[in-house]
Amino acid sequence: MAFPNAVHHEAQVTVVFSDLKPGPLQVRMARSSPGRYALHEFAKNVYAVKATDSKGKTLTISRPDPSGWDVTGHDGTVRFSYTLFGDRTDGTYAGIDERHAHLNIPATLAYGRGLEDRSAQVRFELPTGWQVATQLRPETTANTYFAPHLQYLMDSPTSLGVQQVRTWQEQGKTIELAVLHEGTAAELDTYADQTKKIVREASAVFGELPAFDFGRYTFIANYLPQTSGDGMEHRNSTSLTSARPLRGQGAIDNLGTVSHEFFHAWNVERIRPKSLEPFDFDRANQSEALWFAEGFTMYYGDLLLRRANILTEDQYMKELTTIVNSMVNSPGARLYSPVQMSQQAPFVDAAAAIDPNNRVNTYLSYYTIGGANALALDLMLRQKHQTDLDAYMRAVWQQHGQGQQNFAPNAPTRSRICSEFSGKWPATQPSRVSFSALILPGTNYLITKSCWLLPACWCAVPAPASPA
Ligand SMILES: [Zn+2]
Repeated sequence: MAFPNAVHHEAQVTVVFSDLKPGPLQVRMARSSPGRYALHEFAKNVYAVKATDSKGKTLTISRPDPSGWDVTGHDGTVRFSYTLFGDRTDGTYAGIDERHAHLNIPATLAYGRGLEDRSAQVRFELPTGWQVATQLRPETTANTYFAPHLQYLMDSPTSLGVQQVRTWQEQGKTIELAVLHEGTAAELDTYADQTKKIVREASAVFGELPAFDFGRYTFIANYLPQTSGDGMEHRNSTSLTSARPLRGQGAIDNLGTVSHEFFHAWNVERIRPKSLEPFDFDRANQSEALWFAEGFTMYYGDLLLRRANILTEDQYMKELTTIVNSMVNSPGARLYSPVQMSQQAPFVDAAAAIDPNNRVNTYLSYYTIGGANALALDLMLRQKHQTDLDAYMRAVWQQHGQGQQNFAPNAPTRSRICSEFSGKWPATQPSRVSFSALILPGTNYLITKSCWLLPACWCAVPAPASPA
């Protein structure tokens, strides 16, 4: 990958496919991206496509579908080259300019159908002064990186630019914070100190850090002013993008994304919904479990900030109030279950359509409805079972996350964990909990609004037939 025209948001990409069997090579751009659940048709920003064989002979290309190119007449090697346009720096797309390139790989690299199990090498021809931040494994050759297979390659966003890096050891693992920003070194030092606290608080919930694949976790952070706000979780890294600076309220808001995304290293990257495995780059993965993956993560994102003393108690209670108010006031929350809200993700998660819809009356985000369920479950565990949601998350981690290696559990067993965990709860009957008169232990806060919820462990059962 090279950047001779970065000032006009273009990159030049050459993908070399070798040891091919006879017959057409099906080259495709992804239509979807891990952790972002709508279709994005990344082929739309690919042009000037060419293909040659090992001797430089031009090969015939046809367009069987909008995301693909079939290449015929090759001699076992295809050099497939194209120009990529990218002018949106976030967790989904590619942003390229004279200062940096922030590359979400599904938006960037074409792949060969049927070659998904092959390892891949990625080599960057970097403008002077740029460095690489990525979860890809560095090779001994400069600016060259390795992915064991396509799923890992696609999961590995990469930031190129003048990186400012802070690195530390935590439980024998390397944590790396690689940042592009316009602030001072002192601001970044303070930000890194706050990030360390978040890492420790998240690890304390589960009792350990995950076994990062190459012994390293990277916060890939881009806080340049041309950046779009986003956070995206990955297996051994996260893409953090925001135009907010690393000082004042901007830093606190950015740390909220750090906290949320790092919690995902356990919850969704390793406590992994079966519906997300393997990730399908040709179509949208529909998942029933995003209320747990995103909602519980949202709940903990704020809670970790409070525990790390980054949010005051008042600031934290305002976040909880937002969740409770949404549950109480949103008409959609009375109509559909967290599972059904999760199944809307392909239509709402950065999805683009021009026709009006009725979601204001029928929908509440799986982040919010899941976060409210996490709050309700935490309060119930504390009030009635002398334990808390941390212990529950640790049980889920030990049974389903700890040993996860790119495969999913065979059967969802949330109900079983819940009943084992409490020793009292029925595993099959829906039950309800009220927020009213539940007091947060150790505080003077009383949540006075009455709000009925399905506790999280029963959300897998069908929604009630009539609105509740
Ligand atoms: Zn998330």
